Amino acid sequence: TTRPRTNVFEELESQVRSYCRSWPATFTTAAGSTLQAENGRSYLDFFAGAGALNYGHNHPVLLEALLDYLRSGGIVHSLDMHTAAKRDFLTTFRDRILVPRDLDYKLMFPGPTGTNSVESALKLARKVTGRQHILSFTNAFHGMTLGALSVTGNSMKRNGAGLPLTNSSKIPYDDYFSGATEDFLWLERVLSDSGSGVDKPAAIIVETVQGEGGLSAARPEWLRALSELCRTHEILLILDDVQAGCGRTGEFFSFEESGIVPDIVCLSKSISGFGLSMALTLIRPQLDQWEPGEHNGTFRGQNTSFVTGTAALNEFWSDDTFAEGVRERAAELHDGLAQIASGYAGAVVKGRGFLSGIKFQDASAASKIAAASYERGLLVETSGPEDEVLKTMPALTISSDELRSGVDIIAAAAAEVLG
Ligand code: PMP
Repeated sequence: TTRPRTNVFEELESQVRSYCRSWPATFTTAAGSTLQAENGRSYLDFFAGAGALNYGHNHPVLLEALLDYLRSGGIVHSLDMHTAAKRDFLTTFRDRILVPRDLDYKLMFPGPTGTNSVESALKLARKVTGRQHILSFTNAFHGMTLGALSVTGNSMKRNGAGLPLTNSSKIPYDDYFSGATEDFLWLERVLSDSGSGVDKPAAIIVETVQGEGGLSAARPEWLRALSELCRTHEILLILDDVQAGCGRTGEFFSFEESGIVPDIVCLSKSISGFGLSMALTLIRPQLDQWEPGEHNGTFRGQNTSFVTGTAALNEFWSDDTFAEGVRERAAELHDGLAQIASGYAGAVVKGRGFLSGIKFQDASAASKIAAASYERGLLVETSGPEDEVLKTMPALTISSDELRSGVDIIAAAAAEVLG
């Protein structure tokens, strides 16, 4: 499908790195799962700000909370001062999220983005254990700064920074070898063998669903084996829930289903609930060995993000109703995707919850289907090192009817592209 060249950003290409994904429209306003563009068309959103908009665009309750706060003269920037907005977020997160799940974590604001949370986790793990090495997984994505990039798999993104990065190695993710049943026996063996020459790592960092790396989803028993290995060898387990967290898999933390309790959890994207930047690092209390000022930064803990984040926790996480609805509608999405996949040889459904998609036999199909979907009014992305997976990640607030329309568009686009 040829991209229509309709907007001013095309003219400005020599002056800005506009990086307009594959959607040439210029977007103006949005509500829920619909965006309007200057070309007069509206677009259904199966992208949700790459996971930053789990509650959709401009959710009225969050919008009202933000406007009320600003109109009443609420403080926007305060850095490390105590503010009422920060206190309300902390107590609400404790009461709505940690206490009901019997989780005991200390909360830290590592900077404005998910990458900052990953950096803080890697630094803390090295500081606390006194060890250097970090293990991460094939096809992992953890962010773009040097530390986070070191534990990321994608070689295109890594090579630009010059190798080697910091001290890390990749080990195979759950489905890397199809049919593998031994899980972590090999790692258990080399870590127990003083002659193996393999040094004990400070930490292992993992995603439950590889959001950028092709939507592989770890089995709960695999996560439990990983957690057990870490416990036995006193290796810290860092769970990067930046993309899969905040409800995307149908539970607040994507690791709840497996029953594991990571040592450190990274959150960002939808934690402010409104698309405002915010990151949170959850650390087991005994790991909090930072000196004051040892990990700081100007934009940590923005009050506007606290206000919308608190409103989101109160609106969606005061009981299990919202999560149940997410699980039901995610099952509808899966049925729709499975129906499409069944029509094409070798196509499989990947992912979990509202972080799911289809891998087609022909690696180039997903990008073409995404482009054809755009022409039909649907914003949908791809995932994987070769963009080989069509990735659907709608807002968790999307209706069944909207889901159906999006799936119908993908079905029509697939039929157009694959014949
Ligand atoms: N970890 C994961 C799992 C992610 O998906 C991302 C972003 N796609 C990041 C870390 C980095 O987050 P950010 O882009 O907010 O820095």
